[in-house]
Amino acid sequence: MKTKILQILRQSEDYVSGQELCESLGVSRTAVWKAIKQLREKGYEIEAVQNRGYRLAVIPDVLSQQEIESCIRTKWLGHKVFYYDEIDSTNTEAKRRAEEGAPYGTLIVADMQSAGRGRRGRGWESPHNQGIFFTILLRPEIEPTNAPMLTLVMAMAVTRAISNCTGLKAEIKWPNDVVVNGKKVVGILTEMSAQIDYVNHIVIGTGINVHQETFPEELAEKATSLDMELKQQEKTLNVSRAQLLEKILEQFEECYEKYIQTQDLSNLMEEYNQNLVNMGRRVRVLDPLGEFEGSALGINEHGSLRVEKDNGEIAEISSGEVSVRGIYGYV
Ligand code: ATP
Repeated sequence: MKTKILQILRQSEDYVSGQELCESLGVSRTAVWKAIKQLREKGYEIEAVQNRGYRLAVIPDVLSQQEIESCIRTKWLGHKVFYYDEIDSTNTEAKRRAEEGAPYGTLIVADMQSAGRGRRGRGWESPHNQGIFFTILLRPEIEPTNAPMLTLVMAMAVTRAISNCTGLKAEIKWPNDVVVNGKKVVGILTEMSAQIDYVNHIVIGTGINVHQETFPEELAEKATSLDMELKQQEKTLNVSRAQLLEKILEQFEECYEKYIQTQDLSNLMEEYNQNLVNMGRRVRVLDPLGEFEGSALGINEHGSLRVEKDNGEIAEISSGEVSVRGIYGYV
């Protein structure tokens, strides 16, 4: 009921009468009043004016089941939400839910991860009240070999949403990070359960630094948050984490539709390359089979990064085991 009340109050520019709420929800005035009281206790400032009704004055940046569900405007993604104040890892939880038969498009969100993960067993710092940590569950009918491209699809969606919502210039560091001013604000981790030629499920996890003001020493050089970057421009974030998450999901749906038509990035490659921070830059490819340097030429339709080596040879590197660095720093 709290979700529905939030939805109605959000959608209305004016006051909504108690009577209207009772009728839409099919409950008594006392029940509405109780739910409003509980919402206020969570930090929502709900004005009540006699003879006019209720109005949502201040929406706090809390993440909760109700807050997320009341923001969702997507066609199919995130219609089933599991929210946790704290979880080991949203990807791990998504895999557990997948095994239990959770539907296509399920969204797992946490306010804090105690064991947030990056690629190849590395950790992802996920403190309380600071970020957005979410995973979506998909069961696409695609070749398992085409699944890694979904990381790039999510990177595009997040880049679009951050740029639109904040005005910051978000760029992609191939293959799975989003950076602002050369520092990492987002990391993406895609994991899959598959047979040789059949995908059981895919989970795409995303961690976004939103409100951090500092980072642990080992990350300080290469990590940043949306608040930190906006502060540089004397601006503040004017969307809540739940609203930003919703915008990301909307963008993902749009990008995913383009991906699924061809099962590759033909329809998205141009935009991806326009937002690629590595584009035209000298990079160092940390390939376990041998590191090398070259000039990044952008991705191909399969999401591999094309790098021109000094001898003119063009290497097409796929994301699996490889990291890329700028030669003077992280990008
Ligand atoms: P690389 O950063 O080496 O290119 P990667 O992009 O694959 O590799 P991920 O596996 O996505 O890295 O993320 C894990 C790494 O990100 C960690 O090893 C750590 O250096 C860094 N990291 C961890 N938490 C955060 C955070 N909250 N913000 C930014 N960077 C983080």
